[in-house]
Amino acid sequence: MFESLRVGVQLTESCNLACQHCSTFSSPKVTTTLDRGYVRDILQQVKQIDPDAEIGFTGGEVFYVRDLLYYAIGLVRELGLSYSVTTNGSWAMDPAERQEVLHSVLDAKKLGLSADIYHGTAVPRRAIGLALQEALELGIEAVIRYTYIEGEDFDKIVEELGLTTEEERARVHFSGVMRVGRAVRLDHSVFPMFPEREPCLAANIVMIRSTGGIFGCCGESMYVRGQHDLRFGHIRDTPLVDVMDNRDRNLVLQTIRTLGARPLAEAAGLVGDSDEEQVLGRSPCGSCHLLLQERNRDKTHAAAEELRDRVNALRALYYGEV
Ligand code: SF4
Repeated sequence: MFESLRVGVQLTESCNLACQHCSTFSSPKVTTTLDRGYVRDILQQVKQIDPDAEIGFTGGEVFYVRDLLYYAIGLVRELGLSYSVTTNGSWAMDPAERQEVLHSVLDAKKLGLSADIYHGTAVPRRAIGLALQEALELGIEAVIRYTYIEGEDFDKIVEELGLTTEEERARVHFSGVMRVGRAVRLDHSVFPMFPEREPCLAANIVMIRSTGGIFGCCGESMYVRGQHDLRFGHIRDTPLVDVMDNRDRNLVLQTIRTLGARPLAEAAGLVGDSDEEQVLGRSPCGSCHLLLQERNRDKTHAAAEELRDRVNALRALYYGEV
């Protein structure tokens, strides 16, 4: 799954929506968008490192900066790389636009459609269901990424999406909402408990934020202030080859992508008794929010060092890395 290099490119933090749980603080008021020169530079560097690499375009909302998205996809095609797109699917509410957008990404390796209660205030679930069904008809590898809150009924969700076949239902991937980003304002009762031991697969993605910053994952690490173990530099002065080398020797990142963020936060004694720490400790990204605070750096490093042998064993087991 991760044999080829995976690079996430956040083209913009701008979005036509402003969801209450948004982990990237996106809205129409936010204008941060990646410079075209950086997009070209990143893709050329990626091509040098791994010609079979996959680029994941995300936002904010990528179809809100459609010209930049199509420019970037054009470069990917020119370089012979592959790409995937993550989108809020708001374009799916209009049948003609739905077809136009789907036909513009027929060669996408994957199309990820976001859906949940918060997106649902602006984008009806049935529109997302139709986008999935029409994408599959066109041969596009599409999935729905549903971010659920505690207590939601999965069968009712699939019904409201209007999905009927086993294949369609199997393409709805559920993951719980996490107390990061704008979601810090939500009531604690909405946050589900994640599995205790779960490697974070998002930590297998080198992430370029729309500011040009380079990070060790496409999650909370992009928004934790200050220097931390998953902040790798900036595209203007940090070559991606150096990032790859840093990742390989980075014990904190390796612990998160093998054992998981929650076990590491627990081992570092960072999930205290306060309500906030307890709720943060329920999820991987919430745990990373604790792990990556500069004040917790020594505790995080000491705990990771304790786990080094297990991490190396799991690297070999999961990824064949020795
Ligand atoms: S759990 Fe940590 S490594 Fe994984 S996506 Fe969240 S912030 Fe990134």
